[in-house]
Amino acid sequence: MASPDVVYVNGDFTPRAEARVSVEDRGFVFGDGVYEVLRAIGGRLFATRFHNDRLTRSLEGVRISLSAEDSPERFVDIGKRLLKENRLLQGEAIVYMQVTRGVATRAHAFPEPEVAPSVYISVARFNPYVELAERGASAISHPDLRWARCDLKTLNLLPNVLASQTAKERGAFEAMLVRDGVVTEGAKTNFFGVVDGCLRTHPCDTHILPGITRSVLRDLARELSIDLDETPIKVAEIPRLSELFLTGTTADVMPVVRLDDKPVGKGVPGELTRKLQGVLAESLASGAAGD
Ligand code: PLP
Repeated sequence: MASPDVVYVNGDFTPRAEARVSVEDRGFVFGDGVYEVLRAIGGRLFATRFHNDRLTRSLEGVRISLSAEDSPERFVDIGKRLLKENRLLQGEAIVYMQVTRGVATRAHAFPEPEVAPSVYISVARFNPYVELAERGASAISHPDLRWARCDLKTLNLLPNVLASQTAKERGAFEAMLVRDGVVTEGAKTNFFGVVDGCLRTHPCDTHILPGITRSVLRDLARELSIDLDETPIKVAEIPRLSELFLTGTTADVMPVVRLDDKPVGKGVPGELTRKLQGVLAESLASGAAGD
């Protein structure tokens, strides 16, 4: 029997094919909204507190106020109900949450009087990249064409979409974004590299999304007494990289073994990458950072 396909839209649980939003929704017209993607393993959502905090921060950053009855915690409960209704309590799944500024006749400034934000939550089966994570992925470098508030998880993803498409056309898993001569992050992941034996990643400023996997991994590295230097990796340092990996809710720790068609280090996943891949996998499996 096929699984049901139920989503949540503005207060209603409804079959996906019947779910509707207005053509005047500001998410559709302006990309005026924010979102979150959470990982569910065996019906348990991973790192909900971090995701709730980031959603709150994104909403505040773009000045969207939730309706009185809504909150990130309520969205998590809705996500759990959707997992149950869609029979996704076993195995792996993804929960998607989106909030837009709502429906109003097109005008750039905020609607007056204020309108209720639109809320859309859905779930989907997810198959982790087990084989690729074992072998290692390839990446390309690509100009970072995004705006100045990449720390907010907004729906405006066109530069990420274009960079991802270029990566796909070149047979790569991810585009490593470069701004002012430094590696910021990926189109959908954060980047870590080992330069001269030192683990480095871009600091959490307005040029990157503060990845939840990045935070979890930073804490796990600290527990293992592995130093993390938050000094951005310069493009000029790329030839000295002995290891490179990316992190994300769906990518976990993904070794990058080829960059711009050249091997990274020995062209196989590095020792530190493997170690961190292992501890993140344990953390996910144990539900240590779960809700
Ligand atoms: N950076 C960008 C631009 C992203 O879109 C994402 C995830 O979608 C990440 C980093 C990784 O964040 P997280 O670990 O929270 O999935």
